[in-house]
Amino acid sequence: MLGRTVIEKTEIDEMVGRIAKEIEKDFGPGSPVFVGVLKGCVFFLTDLVRQISSPLEIDFIQVSSYGSGTSSSGTVVLVKDITADVRGRDVYLVEDIVDTGITLSDVVEMIRARHPRSVRIVSLLSKPSRRKIDVDIAYLGAEIDDVFVVGYGLDHAEQYRNLSDIRELIPESE
Ligand code: 5GP
Repeated sequence: MLGRTVIEKTEIDEMVGRIAKEIEKDFGPGSPVFVGVLKGCVFFLTDLVRQISSPLEIDFIQVSSYGSGTSSSGTVVLVKDITADVRGRDVYLVEDIVDTGITLSDVVEMIRARHPRSVRIVSLLSKPSRRKIDVDIAYLGAEIDDVFVVGYGLDHAEQYRNLSDIRELIPESE
């Protein structure tokens, strides 16, 4: 069942605009690659890159954590790899939410193996109280409490991604 609105669309737009400015200010030479972690990243990544006027490339990676439900299990498997040649280039890894940090730390390693000049993490949301592995988020929208959220790309069993706001999902048993 959908619960309260955690972040309204207007706030999301402000966060995305602010992050875009911060990133563009830090742009190095050459065209960077924005790698979105599918599928949750799609709305965030597409909104973000349209706020940046400098040349850039986009690509996607998809991984899956074994298990289902509302918490990740810890085993990360590559489902779809990037196709861009990132060697010697700046990579911005775009994620919807960092929870335990397990997914992103593995994805960062997968990208680093391709010898980019840098890898910086861009995440819309973070739940610091849930962290198991420390990940360095260079650009962050907002920290949230330990609640399961859906909307603006975030799903539960592939539903709710199309909500404009970010809402809390209350488990049916409660
Ligand atoms: P981590 O590996 O950091 O524990 O989990 C990262 C992934 O778990 C996210 O990319 C997302 O797919 C999923 N996840 C973690 N917290 C939430 C949440 O509150 N809502 C949704 N929809 N997915 C979440």
